[in-house]
Amino acid sequence: MYIEFSKTNKKQQRIIENALWFAKSYLLPKHKIDEIHVESVKRWNYKDGDCYDTDDRSYYIRVRKDMSEDILIKTIFHEFAHIKQSIKKEFGDIFGILSDDSSWISYNDRPYEMDAFKLENEMFDKYAKDGKFKFSIDGKFSL
Ligand SMILES: [Zn+2]
Repeated sequence: MYIEFSKTNKKQQRIIENALWFAKSYLLPKHKIDEIHVESVKRWNYKDGDCYDTDDRSYYIRVRKDMSEDILIKTIFHEFAHIKQSIKKEFGDIFGILSDDSSWISYNDRPYEMDAFKLENEMFDKYAKDGKFKFSIDGKFSL
């Protein structure tokens, strides 16, 4: 799995790279992924991230630039869950579905989003248990 970046800084790259490898080993340990390109997007208000396929087994993830580190990790886990849905063909053509915002089902009731949110939280809990980050008593996140 080759990871490429655009418009990210070194610190974000390290966080994203670690989160992607963790998600890969958690969700798709035996599947081949060629490339994931991650772009950080400035002044993007309506969502934290999205993902689409660029080629067979290659994907493009966009994340909002000004997110806190914990939300950035969760967003990477969430978008990777959609990659897993695509590779395992769990919900049909998931990236075709995701790019169609005209869905009449409200966002939180969409089965593929429920699956992605469940996995995002599962992975975040496991990531904490593995000691990859911690929250102090006053709720401050640190890696
Ligand atoms: Zn989603």
